[in-house]
Amino acid sequence: MQDLIISNLSKTYKNGVKALQDITLQIPIGMYGLLGPNGAGKSTLMRTIATLQTPDFGSIQLGGLDVLAQPNELRKVLGYLPQQFGVYPALSAELLLDHLAVLKGIINSKERKEIIQALLHKVNLYEVRKQKLGGFSGGMKQRFGIAQALLNNPKLLIVDEPTAGLDPVERNRFYNLLSEVGEQTIVILSTHIVDDVKELCPRMAIINKGKVLVQGNPLQIMENL
Ligand code: ADP
Ligand code: ADP
Repeated sequence: MQDLIISNLSKTYKNGVKALQDITLQIPIGMYGLLGPNGAGKSTLMRTIATLQTPDFGSIQLGGLDVLAQPNELRKVLGYLPQQFGVYPALSAELLLDHLAVLKGIINSKERKEIIQALLHKVNLYEVRKQKLGGFSGGMKQRFGIAQALLNNPKLLIVDEPTAGLDPVERNRFYNLLSEVGEQTIVILSTHIVDDVKELCPRMAIINKGKVLVQGNPLQIMENL
């Protein structure tokens, strides 16, 4: 079983904010929506799953992997698009992907080229691959963000509030891309936009004040709200 299993995760920051309170979730392959207002604890949860910060209590399993005990193993199978994704504006899309691929350990240049070309096609940026990232629109940058997150062919893709500032056309394009990725990958989408989850995610959880309020199928959940 390749589900992501999050058990009893808790985190209190030094200022006393209880950002996560006994969070337990089971997340299968496909698009999974994590819905909650600002301050709910979404970023804390995402960063904890990505092993960028540690919880006070709890465990995370991915397949047979104990994520918190083996963060380096997790990172080999993780793609992460953080809320604030910075790009180097002076580099072209193709060149930055090439550098990032080297950092991810893809050292064979022929292999790198093949992977990058396929990814550029997948995110629909092949035609603009030689252009500088500084000139990219918000939507283009986010699709580039997905390309870099997919470089290592991850089993788990985490995207944190990815559509802030995108126009409706770009947002749809971005979500179509995520849905395609979700056919073979666990994709966790954090958002405060109800409609996004409703349209895209067969499963979801609503979190608020660090707690899971409800989890399940969006249509059933929203019927009962
Ligand atoms: P931890 O308990 O994980 O060590 P800290 O309380 O030390 O976390 O804070 C980590 C970082 O987050 C610090 O650089 C701090 O300035 C910053 N930070 C503090 N409060 C907030 C907040 N409300 N939202 C986002 N970042 C914050
Ligand atoms: P969301 O992503 O849903 O907006 P966050 O995980 O960013 O929620 O924040 C959850 C709560 O924890 C908020 O009250 C926020 O102010 C607080 N917080 C986030 N990061 C830190 C930090 N590093 N130090 C202290 N408090 C934090």
